[in-house]
Amino acid sequence: MKKRALVTGGSGGIGAAICRRLAREGHFVYVHANRGIEAASAVVAEITATGGKAQIVSFDVTNADTTRIKLEAILDEGPIQILVNNAGIHADAVFPGMSSDQWHRVINTSVDGFFNVTQPLMMPMIRTRWGRVVNLSSISAITGNRGQVNYAAAKGALNAATKSLALEVASRGVTVNAVAPGIITTPMSESAFDDATIARMVPMKRAGLPDEVAGLIAYLTSDEAAYVTAQVISINGGMI
Ligand code: NDP
Repeated sequence: MKKRALVTGGSGGIGAAICRRLAREGHFVYVHANRGIEAASAVVAEITATGGKAQIVSFDVTNADTTRIKLEAILDEGPIQILVNNAGIHADAVFPGMSSDQWHRVINTSVDGFFNVTQPLMMPMIRTRWGRVVNLSSISAITGNRGQVNYAAAKGALNAATKSLALEVASRGVTVNAVAPGIITTPMSESAFDDATIARMVPMKRAGLPDEVAGLIAYLTSDEAAYVTAQVISINGGMI
């Protein structure tokens, strides 16, 4: 059965690929943006042009009030049964030089963002006795990464939240997993890694593609993945 899906950060590199893929699976997709309204609108246009169903929604996930108001409007139309918490930022700096702003912006976006978006959607999802939540984590949360104490802490918190929420809702047909990518080709990573660095760091000697991450998320949000929950699943070309 086809579901209503919300993908936060659908205006970004990986998020857009997830939106396109979930729409191809036949789901109705809310393509979320914050500032990238144009990019998200383009994703919606592409999906509808190819016979899919999608709609844009925009809010800042760190703003609890506006997020709740926008989600209430979505819930008025029915429950969200597939939620992909993909919105995220990084603001790298070695720790002694890290500002309070860099620390809080990254934590707020990933961790407060997770709460602000997920909490209001949970009860309606639970009532349907079918749900899928996928949180975009990172290899940095597993291995640590110099210059990313804030980002690793944020994604590590998401991994822990993933496991705890999964236990709470496991008996209700709702699965909660995290996906931890390595280096994926998007504007976020292109500025950080050149080809030589990627060849040195990744056994497959290439960055991953947003569509490859989207393929994993399509599986995790399918009926077939009903018994996969409370996991942090890596997709990194063999980096760890
Ligand atoms: P992008 O920078 O391309 O996209 C980030 C998305 O997050 C954008 O859609 C942006 O919205 C949204 N966003 C950021 N801040 C907010 C906010 N306050 N409120 C609402 N939305 C917000 O990143 P990627 O596509 O590369 O990354 C997607 C996810 O994957 C992130 O969580 C990232 O940490 C994770 N990841 C990425 C890796 C990579 O190599 N690319 C590796 C490991 C993990 P807008 O532009 O509309 O403002």
